[in-house]
Amino acid sequence: MRVEYDRETCIGMFQCVEEWGEFEKDVDAGKAHLVDGERVDADWGEEVYAVEVPAGEEFEAKFAGRVCPVDAIRVFDDDGERVV
Ligand code: SF4
Repeated sequence: MRVEYDRETCIGMFQCVEEWGEFEKDVDAGKAHLVDGERVDADWGEEVYAVEVPAGEEFEAKFAGRVCPVDAIRVFDDDGERVV
């Protein structure tokens, strides 16, 4: 499972931070920070970071995506299908 996060879209409400430890607060920037995220090119966002979800953290990762009010987080299964 893979999570993608668009920092450009993020409005810093920090709900994701409460759901999954991979997201931390960057209060100064007013943005979430995807801790192990690597910058990637993606067709859906301007400043997208991606990370593979460690085994056992799939539920939390999906929940982080679901609570984001501006859809700045997308979650894909191992086949590349978007699940959140
Ligand atoms: S929930 Fe969405 S808008 Fe809020 S900090 Fe996380 S990514 Fe940004």
